Amino acid sequence: MAMSIRTRFAPSPTGFIHLGNLRSALYPWAFARHHGGDFILRIEDTDLERSSQEAVDVIIDGMAWLGLDIDEGPIYQMQHMDRYREVIAEMLKSGLAYPCYMSEAELNALRDQQMANKEKPRYNGLWRPEPGKVLPPAPEGVLPVIRFKSPIGGSVIWQDAVKGQIEISNDELDDLVIARPDGTPTYNFCVVVDDIDMRITHVIRGDDHVNNTPRQINIMRALGGTPPIYAHLPTVLNEEGEKMSKRNGAMSVRDYQREGYLPEAILNYLARLGWAHGDAEVFTRDQFVGWFDLDHLGRSPAQHNPEKLLWLNHHYIQHSDAAKLAEQVKPFALERGITIPQAGQGPDFVQVVGLLKDRANTLIEIADGAKLFYMPAPAFSQQEIDTNIPANIRPALADLITAFEASDSSKEGYSAAFKAVLAQHQLKMPALAMPVRYALFATTQTPAIDAVLVILGKAETVQRLRRVLATKN
Ligand code: GLU
Repeated sequence: MAMSIRTRFAPSPTGFIHLGNLRSALYPWAFARHHGGDFILRIEDTDLERSSQEAVDVIIDGMAWLGLDIDEGPIYQMQHMDRYREVIAEMLKSGLAYPCYMSEAELNALRDQQMANKEKPRYNGLWRPEPGKVLPPAPEGVLPVIRFKSPIGGSVIWQDAVKGQIEISNDELDDLVIARPDGTPTYNFCVVVDDIDMRITHVIRGDDHVNNTPRQINIMRALGGTPPIYAHLPTVLNEEGEKMSKRNGAMSVRDYQREGYLPEAILNYLARLGWAHGDAEVFTRDQFVGWFDLDHLGRSPAQHNPEKLLWLNHHYIQHSDAAKLAEQVKPFALERGITIPQAGQGPDFVQVVGLLKDRANTLIEIADGAKLFYMPAPAFSQQEIDTNIPANIRPALADLITAFEASDSSKEGYSAAFKAVLAQHQLKMPALAMPVRYALFATTQTPAIDAVLVILGKAETVQRLRRVLATKN
């Protein structure tokens, strides 16, 4: 029977979640979906001081936003404390682990001595039981740490799906502390217990964990587990080639939501940030899931490229259905004080979005552009009129109003009206279109004027132009 694939995203909710963090969710999700397996969200919250519910919320919201659906979880490690203690007790019983009474001060002295001898600092196995070895008497009133009895000799070898074969000599690994004096289990230990209990088949995670892997494999084997396939993803670097972090200006996932990025664009962007399918740059989520594999993960660090992300965002905005996009723009429009009118009570919002989407890079740009249509008709001072509606244009403007009134209110109709009046008065388009824009909106920056007029509506257009003409130069 084929093995059912089970992957997990195991974030530590200790604050800032940037795009690189979300990529660590995307790949295991895509791998599970590709194989019809299960994707688990495990919150590694055992560092009580640094973990926060707010960070958990950001992770869960960010994943939901991108559509990374979870089959199991969120599962919180803090809820597994009894299980970890139970495993530690079993390990003590079966001799896989042992209490170590070496104090902090003794450990430091040992380290100093090893450093002075130019040796690698490591625990010397003083309290490690061996056949025939006599251990020192346990000091009274001292709570021990629990150490894992790491294999001696040989090495840990695994075929990393990204980095190829990795071999670490067991001599490099001393006996890891798996429980602190107060009994709380340590990080690497909890990961192993959970990966076994959750029957994880593929661990896809950042390569900052490569050094933990040999220790995790040894503990896993000692506990009778089969190590999963590991795929260690190279880090995501920022534009300057540094590791992405809040300190050097990375944006959080929420920032991207607030700045009007589409989840489709972010997903497509992250997919390519360390994985490739030929030279495909733009693809749907279904294509991504269909194509995703571990064989085409990049081996060198991926570099964040904000321009490319913005370009993708533009692409997805441009190709979005206007009605769907309008729903996504709405909150940004409301934030900008736009009251979206009822049908027939003002410029149609879906039409406005449809007009602006071709040129916009973000939802915010659309919302900002939409303000044009929902501001009250502008009021002008005499000086503003004198400067922007030249006296010699007024006769043409008057004829234009007449031509608009006779037109069929279509883009083509307005365009034909312009053409006729331009020919009649021997004017070029800008000479007339600029004053028209100004008269309508108090700006000369608008999308194509004929399309704008369709949305503003004939009655409103004519009324605004008339008001300007009614003011004498
Ligand atoms: N909690 C770890 C982190 O956030 C990930 C551990 C793992 O994937 O094994 O870096």
